Amino acid sequence: MSLIDDHLLSILKQFDRLGPRYTSYPTAPVFSAEYTAQRFEDDLIENNRNSSSPVSLYLHIPFCDTLCYFCGCNTIITRNREKISEYLLALKKEIDRTTSFISIKRNVVQMAWGGGTPSYLSPEEIRDLAKYIRERFTFASDAEISVEIDPRELTFDHLKAFVDGGANRFSLGVQDFNDDVQVAVNRIQPESLTHQVFQWSRELGIKSINIDLIYGLPLQTIESFKATLEKVIELSPERIAVFNFAYVPWMKQHQKLLHQDQLPTAENKLHLLQLTINTLIRAGYVYVGMDHFAKPTDELATEQKNKNLNRNFQGYSIKAGADLFGFGMSAISHFGAVYAQNAKDLPAYYEAINNGRFSTILGYKMTQDDELRKFVIMRLMCDLELDKRNIERRFGILFDEYFADALVKLEEFLPLNLLALETDRIVIREAGRFVLRNIAMCFDAYLPKMAKEKPIFSRTV
Ligand code: SF4
Repeated sequence: MSLIDDHLLSILKQFDRLGPRYTSYPTAPVFSAEYTAQRFEDDLIENNRNSSSPVSLYLHIPFCDTLCYFCGCNTIITRNREKISEYLLALKKEIDRTTSFISIKRNVVQMAWGGGTPSYLSPEEIRDLAKYIRERFTFASDAEISVEIDPRELTFDHLKAFVDGGANRFSLGVQDFNDDVQVAVNRIQPESLTHQVFQWSRELGIKSINIDLIYGLPLQTIESFKATLEKVIELSPERIAVFNFAYVPWMKQHQKLLHQDQLPTAENKLHLLQLTINTLIRAGYVYVGMDHFAKPTDELATEQKNKNLNRNFQGYSIKAGADLFGFGMSAISHFGAVYAQNAKDLPAYYEAINNGRFSTILGYKMTQDDELRKFVIMRLMCDLELDKRNIERRFGILFDEYFADALVKLEEFLPLNLLALETDRIVIREAGRFVLRNIAMCFDAYLPKMAKEKPIFSRTV
């Protein structure tokens, strides 16, 4: 993988547009309120009848102590721990309701604790919930169990409770080590604390640690972010995710608390991206694609070579083909052709669950065209190439005919050597990795219509 030079940087500038990150296709704005809890229940029954796919579980713990101004998640900011027991009760009811519809003999190959802040729970609550789930599902011996860790207000016992519950991967939220940036985004996280939590994780035998950073935050400079990257490299995590800050104040009102004049310009953001990629590659990390870097020995890098990567709501994953069941406020399930999202606020979530219903408020059932486009977009984003004949065999289409419009749009990338359109394949060149979202957007059937409506996506570069 080559470094980004100034010529490439000038090419990338032209592709700074609004666009999805494709953790799903169709993307969330396509989900509709016409998809009801009853339809979700019917689809669960049908899935259980027809699917023997392994299972992936997602647990959403929405609570956080303080609000980070950049946050894009569904969170509830409260220091009132009493709210937790009511939530855990509802979560258990939802788990029970789901397991009454699906076979618990299907292997769980992946589970993710996300939020919000999973460690908002006490160690006892973590142990209790992990035990509750393990008693109700069958876990594969090599199941990947990951936890989003916020190093602030966390004890060794919290981490141990997750490990006792089977966790084998931690993802530590750092974002930026610089003090001024931390103040500007209202997330004070001393470096020593991150080191401590990293050390504890290793002591507990966690062999796979990811560190999350964000570029594009207020007051970030090349010098400050370089220092952050160097500190992260020193820690030597197996994976590093460096997300492009999704500044969407029209959707996330609290982002208006950020001082707009402190945000890096589009030009400076590109320099931060250049710095990130060049620094991490020089340090020996492989640029897997969209935001993610991994050590060459890490499964994310090795499985990309074997074309076994997949994308899900957490980003890249090596567990393909699992049916995803999401639990908790705003959690999303995805199995077969179905996407279904739970209520995004606690009163609506509790009202449904406590009355013996699912809390589904949005959903979508994919058409054949959606399935085909999803496959194309996901393969491009994971394999960085597309075997047209494979698509034709799988979906019974003539690729060049079916995607004539998309192929015309892709021509934009040819003179810049960002991709190659071969007779049998579409190949993303090394430099094309930086505009993966833009390339994938050519196959999105919904974007042209959405583009005319109000902005809903963040910038692609
Ligand atoms: S801790 Fe995470 S989820 Fe909570 S406010 Fe901060 S960024 Fe958002």
